[in-house]
Amino acid sequence: MRILLLSDIHANLEALDACLAVAPSHDAIANLGDIVGYGASPNEVTDRSRALGGPLVRGNHDKACSGVSSLEFFNPIAGLAALWTQENLTPENYTFLRDLPAGPLPLEGIASPPATEAEPPSPVYLVHGSPVDEDEYIITIRDALDVLMRSSVRLTFFGHTHLQGWFGLDSENGALAMRPQYETRDQFETLDLELERDSKYLVNPGSIGQPRDADWRAAFALFDSERYVVTFLRVPYDVKGAQQRIRDAGLPDRLAARLAEGR
Ligand code: ZN
Repeated sequence: MRILLLSDIHANLEALDACLAVAPSHDAIANLGDIVGYGASPNEVTDRSRALGGPLVRGNHDKACSGVSSLEFFNPIAGLAALWTQENLTPENYTFLRDLPAGPLPLEGIASPPATEAEPPSPVYLVHGSPVDEDEYIITIRDALDVLMRSSVRLTFFGHTHLQGWFGLDSENGALAMRPQYETRDQFETLDLELERDSKYLVNPGSIGQPRDADWRAAFALFDSERYVVTFLRVPYDVKGAQQRIRDAGLPDRLAARLAEGR
C-alpha cells in the first residue's frame, strides 16, 4: 500500500493543490490534522480534505476552530485566526472538524514488517502531536526518545511541529534525528528514507500550509508499506496567491509574511 501523508495544511488552498498536483500514485490518504487555522481558505481546504477521505486525526487548531477547546493557550495571532475561522466555516465543515477523532489512530490494514520471525507485525499509528499527548510537540531528540523508548510501536507518523523529518532509535546506532537535505530552495524535489526493520521511528511529513524549517515549499510525504520506504516531498506553490487571500480576509499580516520565509 502507498499512503499519501498530509499534515498541517492550515487552510492554505494554494499549497494543498500544488501537493495534490505532483503527488505520486497512492492507494489511500492519511491526514495528520490542523486542516484549518492561520490560512484564509478553511472551507475549500476542509471540503478537499473531506473528499480525499482516509483516516484523519484532529489537530489543536481543528479543535480550537470548532469549539472543542478554548483559545487560552493560543498566541494572539493564532487566536485571532481561530476566531475568524470559526466565523467563516460553514456549519457542515464546523461539525466535520468538531467530530474529528483524537490520535493515535492505527493505519488500518498496514503493519511494519517484523524485525525477526518470532515477532508479530507492529501496527503503524497516526498522531497530530505525540502518541502520549495529542497537543505535545516532538521537536528535540530528547522529546522523541521519551516516546520511542517507552513504546513498542515501530512506526508512528506525526505532525504539529511543521518540521519535516524523522527520529529513529535502533540498538546499534542509538538515537538519530534527521531533516531531509534538499539540493534547491525553489524546485520540486523528493528524498527517500529506507526504514530499517529493527528500528523504531517517528516520522513527520512536514507542513503543507505553513512550513517552519526555513523552506517555504509545501512539505508532505508518501509511505510505501511494502518497500518500507518514506518519500519526503517538497513543492513550490503560489505563495503570493495564498498571501493575498490572507490579506484580503483581513487576517494579521504576519500570517501572510511568514509563508514566504518558511517560518
Ligand atoms: Zn499546525
